[in-house]
Amino acid sequence: MGLDRDICKILSKTTNEITVNFPVRMDDGRIDMFTGYRVQHNAALGPFKGGLRYHPSVNIDEVRALATWMTWKGALTNIPFGGAKGGIQFEPSKCSGAELERITRRFTFALGSNIGPEYDIPAPDVNTNAQIMAWILDTYLSTMPPLERNRSAHVVTGKPVESGGSLGRDKATGQGIVFLIEQWAEDHGLKLDGATYILQGFGNVGSRVARLMKPHGSKLVAVEDSSGAISNADGIDPDRLFEYACRSNQLVAGCPEVEPLDHKTFISTKADIFIPAALENQITSETAPLLNVKLVAEGANGPTDPDGDRVLQDKGIALIPDILCNSGGVIVSYFEWLQNKRSEFWDLGEVDSKLHRIIVNAYERVRDRTKKLGTDWRTAAYIVALSRLETAYKKRGIFP
Ligand code: NAD
Repeated sequence: MGLDRDICKILSKTTNEITVNFPVRMDDGRIDMFTGYRVQHNAALGPFKGGLRYHPSVNIDEVRALATWMTWKGALTNIPFGGAKGGIQFEPSKCSGAELERITRRFTFALGSNIGPEYDIPAPDVNTNAQIMAWILDTYLSTMPPLERNRSAHVVTGKPVESGGSLGRDKATGQGIVFLIEQWAEDHGLKLDGATYILQGFGNVGSRVARLMKPHGSKLVAVEDSSGAISNADGIDPDRLFEYACRSNQLVAGCPEVEPLDHKTFISTKADIFIPAALENQITSETAPLLNVKLVAEGANGPTDPDGDRVLQDKGIALIPDILCNSGGVIVSYFEWLQNKRSEFWDLGEVDSKLHRIIVNAYERVRDRTKKLGTDWRTAAYIVALSRLETAYKKRGIFP
């Protein structure tokens, strides 16, 4: 794209990287030390914004990458946010609810004024949810002077609706993915009624996508999560799988009326669409050759590594890239932030129609740039995002 070299230098660095080590008393009385991160990549277009991940593989480099993708996402979708991400390195499934609450509250306290409603706004990501956002909100507000409290509810998004969350935020990332699949299917003459898809990840994002694809008549033929993979050529009912997962610690293995699959067979399953909605680096030089689909819609952040990307292009598999495909979450987080700032409460129809307009506009910008430049979709998405940041920097200049 011929990006200005000086702007490239700025964007290739993160602005702030915060590491906090903090003690938490566990249920058995012992004290454990935890390490948490918050990386603020760039705030040229607005406050830092991005999720918090609880996972044993969280590390500073992963958080840097996730924070950087958030900057591109805000720029691509034209919402006034910069990019950040955070996380704590631990296995949350091994902790009790009370331990999770103490870890979350102590992490929030340790971050202190490094987060704030007009400065850096966390949200849910892997293994975090509305309950965890409510604990962050409560801890943050409890450390504010009383006069500040009612104007600080937008310190975090993805809150429960009763605590100032937005209708539609819980399904927003999945809803955005489905809006884009609908648009792609229309552009490419694929009938969603009867179309087949495979799904990796059945958490916040994956389970929502599946339940939103059901009314289109699309058939979920295989699902994989951290407990293993399952399949049914006649289709797996997403609502029944969701009920089963709710009863089994959010895991899909062992669900009735399905066959267990190994990972290789899961990846090779023939379908129209593959939706990775779990972790990064899943489509690689080893797995991409096995894929037997027409479209990859990246629900997860960074599910495809550069080698995997080249294989997808060589095989002619179409791609809706992550920074576009999963941007529904941050778009509706922006709506929640706006509603909190204005003391408003939007109905679901308003949230969904605004999300549809913003995400489909971004899709059209990427599609048009792909056609104009003859590039692949990921490159086009990066060019659209980086061009906006380049223009913003050129107009405002660099202090001093
Ligand atoms: P989640 O914790 O709710 O779900 C993660 C899912 O991935 C679970 O079903 C888990 O079992 C599965 N998983 C974990 N390890 C796996 C493995 N090795 N193989 C197969 N499956 C595995 O997390 P989420 O919020 O749904 O996030 C999923 C992805 O979507 C992440 O990449 C996240 O960054 C991205 N994302 C989330 C949001 C959001 O709003 N939650 C927004 C944008 C992007």
